[in-house]
Amino acid sequence: MDIMKIIGVWGLVYMIGLGVAEVLWHRKKGLPYNWRESSVSMADMIIRNGLTFMLGGGLLTWIAPWISTYAIFDLPIKIAGVVQWGRLAGLFVGLEFLYYWMHRWDHEIRWFWATHSVHHTPNSMNLFTAERLGWTQIISAAVLTMTPLLVIGFHVQDVLTMFAINLMYQYWLHTEMIGKLGWFEGVFNTPSHHRVHHGSNPNYLDSNYGGVVIIFDRMFGTFVEETEKVVFGLVSPVVSMNPIYVALHEWINIGRDIRDNWRHPSRLGGYLFGRPGWSHDGSRGTSEQIQKASLLTASP
Ligand SMILES: [Zn+2]
Ligand SMILES: [Zn+2]
Repeated sequence: MDIMKIIGVWGLVYMIGLGVAEVLWHRKKGLPYNWRESSVSMADMIIRNGLTFMLGGGLLTWIAPWISTYAIFDLPIKIAGVVQWGRLAGLFVGLEFLYYWMHRWDHEIRWFWATHSVHHTPNSMNLFTAERLGWTQIISAAVLTMTPLLVIGFHVQDVLTMFAINLMYQYWLHTEMIGKLGWFEGVFNTPSHHRVHHGSNPNYLDSNYGGVVIIFDRMFGTFVEETEKVVFGLVSPVVSMNPIYVALHEWINIGRDIRDNWRHPSRLGGYLFGRPGWSHDGSRGTSEQIQKASLLTASP
């Protein structure tokens, strides 16, 4: 059976099984389950998949034939049906490394954040959040961070399969049902690490970008341990339950900033590609500024 079909079938069993367990866990604990936010996440997923289907794939699929003419090596993961384990390991590590940077730039560059912020809009955490990824990736184009894999010589289908596994792994991270997991927390991304990533608490901002592993956060200084209760959502929470608005909210904010500043072209670079929260007059706050201010108020 084709690897994508196997991932699809078992992926569905894993997602539905865990989803049902989470609803039952909420019931047992007497905690509310946010079905309204979940339905917004489902709508997001349906629109995104519909768009991908209509567009015949994403940016990587489109540019792959052109990039492959410049590929340094030819590195299919399977040769005559036999898996090349060394290449598979290389692709895993390479994709995890580039995923870390793509995700970090998603948070540090407003053009990318406009799409990625949608994933951070839920103000509560459940597994449906994993499906809320926005559907404007084609405009942000952050996925182009993955192109070095194609230049090295990995085939686009192998890259997309590994990417699908990475995202599918991350599904189980979006829950409050699972606590800390001992030694596993040291190497792998876990629900605890990812709850921190979804927190708007000042010291949780812009941390834990990893996909399957957490080692690059530890290596590049963005790892933060879960120590206090997480406040889920954005610093300026999106409370709308309109899936179209949720998906476009940051693009609308960018549009307003362009409208208000088009007479000052020097500001536009900051509003389009600066840190989220940047403003020419300092009236808003980037994550770094919010963290500094919070430290100041915390100190006696
Ligand atoms: Zn993120
Ligand atoms: Zn997430």
